Amino acid sequence: MIQAQKGTKDILPQEVENWQRMEAAANKVFSKANFKEIRTPIFEATELFARGVGDSTDIVNKEMYTFEKSERSLTLRPENTAGVVRAYIEHGFSRLPQPVKLWYKGPMFRYERPQAGRQRQFHQVGVEMFGSAEPAADAEVINLAVKYLNELGLNDLEIEINSLGCSECRKNYRNAIKDVLKPYLKDLCEDCNFRYEKNPLRILDCKVDSCKKIFEKEEIQKVILGDFICPDCKEHFEKVKEYLTALNIPYTVNKLLVRGLDYYNRTVFEIKSNNLGSQNAVCGGGRYDSLVETLGGPQTPAVGWAMGMERLNSLIEKPASDRLDVFVVSENPKETFKIIDELREAGYSAEFDYANRKFKKQLDKAAKTAKYALILMEDEINSNTVTLKNLDTSEQINVSRQEYLSKIKI
Ligand code: ATP
Ligand code: MG
Repeated sequence: MIQAQKGTKDILPQEVENWQRMEAAANKVFSKANFKEIRTPIFEATELFARGVGDSTDIVNKEMYTFEKSERSLTLRPENTAGVVRAYIEHGFSRLPQPVKLWYKGPMFRYERPQAGRQRQFHQVGVEMFGSAEPAADAEVINLAVKYLNELGLNDLEIEINSLGCSECRKNYRNAIKDVLKPYLKDLCEDCNFRYEKNPLRILDCKVDSCKKIFEKEEIQKVILGDFICPDCKEHFEKVKEYLTALNIPYTVNKLLVRGLDYYNRTVFEIKSNNLGSQNAVCGGGRYDSLVETLGGPQTPAVGWAMGMERLNSLIEKPASDRLDVFVVSENPKETFKIIDELREAGYSAEFDYANRKFKKQLDKAAKTAKYALILMEDEINSNTVTLKNLDTSEQINVSRQEYLSKIKI
């Protein structure tokens, strides 16, 4: 038997309501802030991710689904920021009034070891805001993430932020980190040794316990907690924090927060939920002021985030059992079709027995699936009425065809 691939999952009808809720909430919350939805292709040129996500990242090094077609190397998107930036450049969005504010949702693909909260095909919803270098833009997108989570009933959140500084201040920080870590290289994991050359800040992102232990050493902590960011970056960060406070968004500064992608500068942030297990990050994002240029566009500041929808799904309340509003019980298919249309047009969910079985069988089915049985037998048809049976209370009323709709109380 052919089965779904490891790390992929069917979203079954009984689960789909939650997904529709997550999608509808995104549309609602982001539209109110005038963010517009964009849908980019599932596959792109491999080079887009190599350049856009960064070739020192786990994503590009280990996790991409890459294949050849007509001698072109293509990759299933592991994230959507690179694709959105490509579209921004390709469609000349830099000529539009700035900022350009976009959001997306959809499947992403990463070849990782599947575990709870970690799949190979998973979904993200995210926002990207182009053309504003202001700290208010950082605060706006963080606020949107929080409002989106609130809309889904999630309030128990931990928001961590950090500033990576600009390329200038990062250089100093990078050198200091390299110096202080040098004596410990042989004790750090293989990945950290690779990062040491390619992107030393990412060492701080390492999840290996023995590495984390090393970071606790006093001289390393001193560097980590040190003040490397330049006055401009510092002012930017202070403003972001002030705005978050004004927005009543509680946060903590986590100096170890560097995020897994290469393109971030200045503000980075993560939102965690205490209700998730070890994969407890639902949202990650930050500022990426050089990415548009890196991918061939004009210099354009930008800030955004992505949220994992599977992790979100496991946090939000499961919907109550979805019961049908009305089941029509009748032995006259033509009359049934008429009334079914009336009910559905009035906004009720309605079904009937396609096999036109006996009255008793149909009533049993109604009792199992619906809130109301609408009985439309010979008597009712002749008197131009229907009998409405409330299946919770067993109360039954006979009403005219003109007024029965108003008696249905869902
Ligand atoms: P992690 O540290 O959990 O691997 P990440 O830094 O790779 O996360 P991002 O690339 O920032 O994550 O993606 C943003 C969000 O997408 C994550 O916070 C998470 O909720 C979700 N996510 C990332 N990878 C997966 C995956 N393989 N399966 C399910 N959700 C994922
Ligand atoms: Mg990851």
